[in-house]
Order: sequence, then C-alpha cells, then structure tokens
Amino acid sequence: MTHPAISWRSRITVLVGVAVFACAPQSQSTTVAASDGTGWIDATATLDPATTPVYAGDAPMKFDFLKDMRKGDALTLSAYSLGAHSGTHIDAPMHFVRDGAPIDRVPLEPLIGPARIIDIPDSVQSINAAELARHDWKSAERVIFRTRSSLRGWMHSAIFHRDFAYIAPDAAQLLADAGVKLVGVDYISAEQFGASAPLTHRTLLGKGIPIVEGLALADIPAGDYDAIILPMKVGGHEGAPARAVLRKRAR
Ligand SMILES: [Zn+2]
Repeated sequence: MTHPAISWRSRITVLVGVAVFACAPQSQSTTVAASDGTGWIDATATLDPATTPVYAGDAPMKFDFLKDMRKGDALTLSAYSLGAHSGTHIDAPMHFVRDGAPIDRVPLEPLIGPARIIDIPDSVQSINAAELARHDWKSAERVIFRTRSSLRGWMHSAIFHRDFAYIAPDAAQLLADAGVKLVGVDYISAEQFGASAPLTHRTLLGKGIPIVEGLALADIPAGDYDAIILPMKVGGHEGAPARAVLRKRAR
C-alpha cells in the first residue's frame, strides 16, 4: 500500500532501493527481505499445508475459510486444525515428562534473550558430543543448530524427510549439564527419526529446557542473535506453534 503523504520523489527512491536489492547476491537480498527494517528477522516457517512438513503420523493441517469476503461474504472468518507440533513450535516439558510443565507454564526467560546459531555441515546427521566439540557453544545461553534442513530448504517443503539432522542424547546431556536455557533446531524434531527411546527430549525437557523445533533458518547465517520465540499460550497442552524472531548481536 502506498502512503498518500509520500511524494513522487520518495516513491522513486523506494523503487530504486527495491531494484538495488533485486540485483544483490542471493544471500544478501533474502536476508534483507526477511528483516523489517529494525533488524528483526523472521525465523518462523509459515504455516501452510502446501509448504509445511508434517511429521510422519502427526495430525494433518487443515485451514478453512468459514466466510470469505472475496466470495461475497460480509466478513472473512477462518478455522484451523493442526497438530500442536506444526511448523515452528516449542516443546514444553509435558511432551515427554510426566507431570512436566505445559506450554502455558513455560517461563518467558528461556524464550527471550541471547542465542547462538551454530552451523552444522550438510554431511552431519547426528549432532553428537564429538560434533558439538567442534563448535564454540559453551558461552552461549541458548543454542540453535542450523543444519542440512536449512541448506536443503526442508522447512519450506511439505515433504517429510526422515533423514533430518538430530541432537544425539550425549550432546543433549552436555547442553543440559552446561545450563543452556533453550535448544533449537531447524527441522520439526530434535530427536533421531525412529529412535528407540526419546532420550534427547527426556534429557532436555527433564531439566526444564524448552526445545524449539522447525525454525526457518535458510536465510539466516550462523552467529549471535537476540531471540524472541513465543508460543501460543494453550492451557494444559504439551506444545504449541511459535513466532520466532532474531536480531543480529555484536559478540
Ligand atoms: Zn515438538
């Protein structure tokens, strides 16, 4: 929408700015496009059945318009039906800990503050203790892994991939023992697909560490950020979709 107070001259300036961004290298233009001008970058996968992967066996996503002004109704009104672990979302302790806190009782503190995004090479599927030792994570309050999922665009594809990178139980133990406040991954689970027991979830959630899964990091490079990752406040449930935003931070 064009604001009426903007003169023709500033409109041309805006158009030139857009043209410059369009010519910039891919990574730069996408990063610029993701920011709102204040430095905040959206790290949330859009919930859309056409582009959001659904974990094998999880509830399908259904988005309906009950009323639609584009079709002559007096208003537009929707209904959603989706699994609690759809798209970018947070696992509360209740997910794998009996009597663990539900999502509405997870404190805000782990969800807001400095976070470090760590690049995991495409060749690595198991983020285990040995892999963790290759990265500078120990001074980080919140640790987010950017993996093959981001490199392959998997959070923007409705196809569910089973060979996503996961946090192995020994790495989860190191993160939990170090007092990390939040752990994040860029696919819809932090646990190995088909793992015989959910040890990674149990280790982190057992220490009250929320897990954010399904972050959209394709256009967001590794580094230090301020993070705000807030789930929907659904009373008494074990997880909820979240909005995640990041802002680059001087280390
Ligand atoms: Zn989950």
